[in-house]
Amino acid sequence: MSALEQVIDAAENAPPAPARDSSYAGQRARGFKRLRFVLGLEDEYRRYMRVEQRMSTLVCALTALGIWLVFIALDISRLDPLTEYRAQRYDALAATALRWITLAVLLFLISVLVGKRLPRAYNRLSFLVLVLIGTTSSVSANVFKLRDLAQADLAGFVIIMAVFLPVGLTFHQSVAAAILIAVLNALLGFVMLDPGHIHEHIRISILMFFAVFVGAVGAYLREYTQRDHFLLRRMLHNRAMSDALTGIGNRRLFEEHAATALRQARRERTGLVFAILDVDHFKKYNDRYGHQAGDLALRSLARALEARLRRPMDMVGRLGGEEFGLILYGVRPDTARTMLENLVHAVSSLDIPHDASDTAPHLTVSAGAALFDGLETLEQIYRRADGLLYESKAKGRNRFTLG
Ligand code: GH3
Ligand code: MG
Ligand code: MG
Repeated sequence: MSALEQVIDAAENAPPAPARDSSYAGQRARGFKRLRFVLGLEDEYRRYMRVEQRMSTLVCALTALGIWLVFIALDISRLDPLTEYRAQRYDALAATALRWITLAVLLFLISVLVGKRLPRAYNRLSFLVLVLIGTTSSVSANVFKLRDLAQADLAGFVIIMAVFLPVGLTFHQSVAAAILIAVLNALLGFVMLDPGHIHEHIRISILMFFAVFVGAVGAYLREYTQRDHFLLRRMLHNRAMSDALTGIGNRRLFEEHAATALRQARRERTGLVFAILDVDHFKKYNDRYGHQAGDLALRSLARALEARLRRPMDMVGRLGGEEFGLILYGVRPDTARTMLENLVHAVSSLDIPHDASDTAPHLTVSAGAALFDGLETLEQIYRRADGLLYESKAKGRNRFTLG
């Protein structure tokens, strides 16, 4: 086997680096006709959507508040006198109570949306507000119908349409809310109305279910496109953040992650190691085996390093050339030492022949590893790790220096 063949062999047998956009691309390839992604991805999408739709939900909620206040003003003169007479049934009282409950929940939703903290599940409140508005309108319309007063039972259609506005609900949640409103409207009519009004009520109820259907078709198409855009955006982002040669994170992603990890370590007072790994005598390797073999070696090396990291905050990224950055998060010096030993050993045990090297018969790396002192900036710890790397090189390479 020639040296190049051995390198290719090592590259092919190395554990595959997790392709960073595989979950997005995979989901796109599998399709999502039922408007559902795989488990973790579905949660991520919903979080993204809630953040994206926070402003539009606020706009819708404020619009609903305006309309609701107008309704209240109009109804106050008509509903309230009805509740004053005991002889009148309790339905007017129920309509008045529901009106104020809806207003309270709507105001609560608005306060959540304008709050400083990112609201997690405000979409449940949106759902509740919509169903309450639908129910209250049905009850009020029935109260007026029974007394032959002017009413607006067509408002039900407007509310069904409102369910499909971007208020943080998924397609399935919107359809569930719309069906619930239509069913409640139908039931309330049968319970409250007298036989004289039932015929017309059935007609309107049937039309309302058609409205649910039409709204649902539009909402399905919209959400399908929205999910596709979500996947495409994430794929593009990942591509911009990954190194084309090795597939691991690039310098930009690494530095972003390192800055986050340092901030978090400072806040949580936990141990962190920032290390720079540099391939030994790589110039000679390229000169001896060719640039293409050098590329393959870098790829194997990156995969070998990444495969050894298990915890979510740990990361290896390609800083450029034959240099890699490493973050070990939440480690004590003794565990950091074991992990660094493993990483340096992982590279030498790839056994990629390097007969032009005067320190080992195969490709090796040296590392400078700086233990975070709890105060350093990214720039400072970077510089310190670089100094420690220099020490490893001076001491004979294929080793790490932790300081
Ligand atoms: P030392 O042990 O002191 O680190 O020696 P070195 O030869 O590894 O260090 P030097 O910085 O002199 O050389 C780095 C070499 O890495 C030079 C360049 O040809 C090679 N290199 C950088 N990026 C790539 C790449 O993407 N592919 C390949 N094949 N080689 C690369
Ligand atoms: Mg270098
Ligand atoms: Mg080097």
